[in-house]
Amino acid sequence: MLSEIRAKAEAGKRLDRAEGLWLLSEAPLLDLGALAQESRFRLHPEKQVSFVIDSNPNYTNVCITDCQFCAFYRRPGDAEAWTLTVEQVLEKVESPPRVARPQCYSRAVTIPRCLSTITSLS
Ligand code: SF4
Repeated sequence: MLSEIRAKAEAGKRLDRAEGLWLLSEAPLLDLGALAQESRFRLHPEKQVSFVIDSNPNYTNVCITDCQFCAFYRRPGDAEAWTLTVEQVLEKVESPPRVARPQCYSRAVTIPRCLSTITSLS
């Protein structure tokens, strides 16, 4: 399957659903990486790469969604719960970038009272 996919990619043809599913679920990771690298250099032959520094200036860790994988949140009223003021959030957002201009977004935590914080920042 990999050689057919590589041939299609080199010809600039779209992959079909079954090929996409195979890449997602069965392709050997190193082969998938090599294929991605080939596609990348076909589209952008320069050997220049840039990076984005992500920043998550969370304004609170209070949440009621209870995602099982999450170690970040605290339930309302928890001793370790915190919510920043608008000034504190702006200070986090405006702090100087360490290397490059960071991409900055805030995760929406599920708690109704945070809506006033969000709207006052926009
Ligand atoms: S919604 Fe976000 S903060 Fe809340 S429990 Fe899920 S991952 Fe954690």
